[in-house]
Amino acid sequence: MNTAFINGTVIVGNGRILEHATVIVEDDKIVKVAVGDVKIPADAKKIPLDGHSLLPGFIDCHVHLCLDGSPDPLSGSVAQPLTVNALKAADFARRTLEGGVTSIRDMGGINGIDLGLKQAIDTGLIPGPRMLASGRMICMTGGHGWQVGLEADGADAVRKAAREQIKAGADIIKLMATGGVLTPAVEPGSEQLTEEELRAAVEEAHKAGKKTATHAMGTRGILNALRAGIDSIEHGVYLDEEAVALMVKNKVPLIPTISALYNIESRGVEAGIPAYAVEKTLRVKPFHLASVRMAREAGVTVAMGTDAGTPFNMHGENLGEIKLLVQSGFSPAQAIEAGTGIAARVLGVEKTLGSVEEGKLADLVMVTGNPLDDAGILAERQAIVLVMKGGKQVKVNHQPQGGEQ
Ligand SMILES: [Zn+2]
Repeated sequence: MNTAFINGTVIVGNGRILEHATVIVEDDKIVKVAVGDVKIPADAKKIPLDGHSLLPGFIDCHVHLCLDGSPDPLSGSVAQPLTVNALKAADFARRTLEGGVTSIRDMGGINGIDLGLKQAIDTGLIPGPRMLASGRMICMTGGHGWQVGLEADGADAVRKAAREQIKAGADIIKLMATGGVLTPAVEPGSEQLTEEELRAAVEEAHKAGKKTATHAMGTRGILNALRAGIDSIEHGVYLDEEAVALMVKNKVPLIPTISALYNIESRGVEAGIPAYAVEKTLRVKPFHLASVRMAREAGVTVAMGTDAGTPFNMHGENLGEIKLLVQSGFSPAQAIEAGTGIAARVLGVEKTLGSVEEGKLADLVMVTGNPLDDAGILAERQAIVLVMKGGKQVKVNHQPQGGEQ
């Protein structure tokens, strides 16, 4: 089936904007992107772009399909039967895709559910975005995320844990360099896995041709991870000049996941979020926003990630992060690129995804209006009128996650 998106604004995903552009899709690929008069194949389904914009399918570099966005998802997820967890995760995968996100990187699953989901999506068993999955996150004993993670202490044990995840099929190794917000009695600013432990896992991942990512909030943990050769810093709450300089020098991107702290702060204890999580959020959030600004001004690569699955950070509402990036000082064009072309590079899939260019896979999103004028429209589900993955149009249902439960 061929499709032609005719005569409208195309936000390419690499910084370029085309007006009066037409995009032709043949099978699973974009075969033509041109401005002005273009010959439309007779058999193509014609979709006029009047009043709409066409963008690349978005890429969320940090989600947790096994967490359900409930007030205390770490404890809640492990308390439910695995089958229920897996069925919910499948539903979240569908919602994510319908929300305009055609690729995700899952940054910590539960008992291999994320790895199985990826297979189920790839084989067409269930609808969902393209997926890179980390399997279980690796943390120190009692460290952040221990409820769902794989606890390992000492370089040899962490090395073995990384090997186990690679054996299980992980595309990326997720390491916990510092404490976090959602685990009780753990300080976000504290160091957790040591530089030596982190290095052991990074070595194993790189030997297997895989990338690594770390949950890192406190400065010393961020620096440990950077010195150990980590490939991306997730959250980056307390960045300092040394960390930012290392990130620029070694081209290590920041995935700030502003949505995570934003949703905890805006819903609060009244919504049932544990008091310790709200207290830590209120304490660290100003530092986080200052760090995001410092990173942007210093030229650190910033890619979109949401941490979807954390409290009230709902799967399918991922593009709220674009709005938050704009509120943090990014232009709409920069924020959109952070969730398309730049995110594709962070995931290492830039040859086939991340932009509306000839030869790339036809992962596309059509929205009402022009998000360059108002990036906030991307956060409104009704504005997403069409999602295409690999040339196939996705059936979009705009029921919010809470609306059906
Ligand atoms: Zn996370």
